[in-house]
Amino acid sequence: MAFLHGGGDVEKNSLSCDFIISGHNSENCVTNLSKNRKQIIEKIYHSELSLLYQNNMKKIFRYALLLIGLLLLIGWIVTTFFPEKLVPMMLQQQLKRQIAQVEKNNQLLQDDESIYVYTVGTSAPLPGERVQTGTAVIVNGHFFMFDVGDGVVRRAENMGLPLNKLDGIFITHWHSDHFMDLSSMVSRTWLLGRTNDLHLYGPDGTDSINQSIKGYLHLENKHRVDHHGTQIMDISKARAIPHEFKNVQGGKEVVYQQDGITITAFDVDHEPIEPAVGYAIEYKGKKVVISGDTKKNDLVMEMAQNADLLLHEIILNSLLKEMESVISAQGLTRNAKIIHDIQDYHTPPSEVAEIAAKAKVKKLILHHFAPAPDFRVVKNLYKKELSGYDGPIVFANDGDLFIVK
Ligand SMILES: [Zn+2]
Ligand SMILES: [Zn+2]
Repeated sequence: MAFLHGGGDVEKNSLSCDFIISGHNSENCVTNLSKNRKQIIEKIYHSELSLLYQNNMKKIFRYALLLIGLLLLIGWIVTTFFPEKLVPMMLQQQLKRQIAQVEKNNQLLQDDESIYVYTVGTSAPLPGERVQTGTAVIVNGHFFMFDVGDGVVRRAENMGLPLNKLDGIFITHWHSDHFMDLSSMVSRTWLLGRTNDLHLYGPDGTDSINQSIKGYLHLENKHRVDHHGTQIMDISKARAIPHEFKNVQGGKEVVYQQDGITITAFDVDHEPIEPAVGYAIEYKGKKVVISGDTKKNDLVMEMAQNADLLLHEIILNSLLKEMESVISAQGLTRNAKIIHDIQDYHTPPSEVAEIAAKAKVKKLILHHFAPAPDFRVVKNLYKKELSGYDGPIVFANDGDLFIVK
């Protein structure tokens, strides 16, 4: 007996009902029939509901698309034909962002507990998106830069760092990827309104380079003062005050001690580049160590003992060797020679890992990459050779922040 032709299940149930009636169980049969009817009504109800839902969603989607299209069109018309209407709003937004950034920076500068470390630039002098070496440190009201390679000033400014509050620059050695932006940093911080003194710390060569910068910026500074006046542009701040240290050879020397902050320069092995140093920054029992450019070096290991952060340079010689032979085979002997030479005065991953493990550093930050670990294959090559250290390892990117609390 088929009372409704709603589908195969109904037919089957009805037939079994016929059988049940002839089998003397009519009460069960009636119950089954009403159950079936209920299920069918529910099915129809649900399918209609879902159809209605789908139609509504389509409508909403169409309206949303139309609305987005309309907004884009209005946006295009206003920005193209009436850009001046947007200027007040744009300036307000910009101002708001700047005020928020200044407030954030002031909070960091007022923090007398933590050390804030920014890897502003993380590249060795190889082409790529990353800028060259530069590390910013904010600690107990002071803002320091450790190295200022090419691109570091622009990157630091884009990051919103308080350049007009910079009060110390520490240079590890006089390779261009560590100081090419030095004159730019001195000048830019002044143009951005720096009213505090800016001190320049570095090994032999600091005085003469600082003198050169003064000469190099002489006309630029004069033009700014002539144009804006001495009230706005205080010429006495348009330069850095040099602090050249001479006694680090083979050892270490405290080069800065103020407000509970101790900064020690220590000799590293970047032969034939002399002098070359790394820096240890200590404050309230916290320690951050920057290796500078060096081969595996015992003094780095000693200085980095139990450091909260060790920022170490790194070179992937296993890849560079391959690169050297490929380039050499193409007859590019000059490039091949340079790639060959750089392999003997930096630290390969296995040795960086060894230093970090022996020094028991709490976190290893890799920077000054040669080459950059921006491709999965390259990064994994680095990782394979870093297995000797089982603490946390970070492949730093430009703009990363590390806080030691
Ligand atoms: Zn370098
Ligand atoms: Zn170097």
